[in-house]
Amino acid sequence: MDVFLPVLFFSWIMYFWETYLSKRQHKMYEAVQALPKELTSVIDSKTFEKSRVYAIDKSNYEFWNGLFGQVIMTTVLWFGGLPFVWDLSGAILDKVGLDENNEIVHSLVFALLGNIFSLIIDLPWKFYYTFVVEEKHGFNKMTVGFFFKDLIKKTLVYEAINLPIMSLIIYIVKSGGDYFFIYAWLMVFIISMILLHIYPEYIAPLFDKYTPLPEGDLKKKIEELADSLDYPLKKLYVVEGSKRSSHSNAYMYGFHKNKRIVLFDTLLEDYTPVTRTESMKDTSDTDETGKDSKTEDGHDKEKKKIGCNTEEVVAVLGHELGHWYYSHMVKNLVIIQLNIFLMFFVFGKLMNLRQLYVGFGFSDFQPILIRLYVVFSFIFSPFNEIMSFVMNVLSRRFEFQADEFAVNLGKREQLKTALLKLFKDNLAFPVADWLYSTRHFSHPPLLERLRGMDDVKQKSE
Ligand code: ZN
Repeated sequence: MDVFLPVLFFSWIMYFWETYLSKRQHKMYEAVQALPKELTSVIDSKTFEKSRVYAIDKSNYEFWNGLFGQVIMTTVLWFGGLPFVWDLSGAILDKVGLDENNEIVHSLVFALLGNIFSLIIDLPWKFYYTFVVEEKHGFNKMTVGFFFKDLIKKTLVYEAINLPIMSLIIYIVKSGGDYFFIYAWLMVFIISMILLHIYPEYIAPLFDKYTPLPEGDLKKKIEELADSLDYPLKKLYVVEGSKRSSHSNAYMYGFHKNKRIVLFDTLLEDYTPVTRTESMKDTSDTDETGKDSKTEDGHDKEKKKIGCNTEEVVAVLGHELGHWYYSHMVKNLVIIQLNIFLMFFVFGKLMNLRQLYVGFGFSDFQPILIRLYVVFSFIFSPFNEIMSFVMNVLSRRFEFQADEFAVNLGKREQLKTALLKLFKDNLAFPVADWLYSTRHFSHPPLLERLRGMDDVKQKSE
């Protein structure tokens, strides 16, 4: 039996399911016109209305972008786009005098053509999102030049990492014998470990500027906190995320005794990027009272004051250190690796079922890359859907645990105000449809987090 039509049909079912969830969430944006009672004291109705309009704009964008993607994919598959590009790759290899029967080289050209195609197709969408949607709501900080330079760099780095890994996987599947799935998984595991090490050190700096956090109150307090928990903090960086957008964040990474923390400059109320001012002197000690005095920047006049004060940033790090304390990252890694192993194992069982690939236009010869594509993106899609539900449920549990950890460090009030400020700065919408948020949110809704923190306090009192 040819499975092409059922596969295509099922991908549309999945598409409608996702669209249905988004529609439910979209309805919330339109229905909830007034600020929830719990938030009236902390968020003004103007900010709320802004976040509502932002959410609606994003949701509309995602709807059209999703529909476009689904239609393009269906069209490409329906009209034999895959075998066409496969033959085209062979013809190109022939032209330049290379052996088109070398499957790895053939697959490389195929993948490259495919990636160029999706790059071109996605470009107008990315451009519109950055320069229309994000711009309209004041988040975009990129110039058109930066956007294109960034995109080209990203593409080159992506291909440089992706194509060799793909070649290795094809090689292992072809020559690994019955137990190739063990070698394939092992290879992916080793490469992801290597990437985890070199990415922050060598790859991330290609895109953004990382500067050590300048000496001062904030640095001292973060180091004290790390010390008190025996967290082996080696380096403390600020990344100039403000060149891209004014969304804010913080994260930590590293192995064993070699940990780093990275703060987005947009998270820090009083941080001025080194590239803009010579002196860092007057940026360390301020609190709420310094609110209006920070306009000497002249960079842009209507620049809002965003970010958190020192105590709040320290509280955010208390939360992050909670993730480390409970080994959340290691737990995630183990689950992801088990999942990859399982997928390779099942792929091994399915890869020789010729009828899976015939309908996609490959009746005589089924390239490994095509088999990987069909099995991983279509056959596994229901499983992937369930996995992302499970991972989000787990991630939200981890967030509550990390919040609890910060509360136990005595940082409840600071973390609460920090979350509220970040919430405001990022124009997040405070109300979510339960089904949509279960599927999509890796973090619990703000109100639940605030309530969760209150519960912790009551327990320990
Ligand atoms: Zn967290």
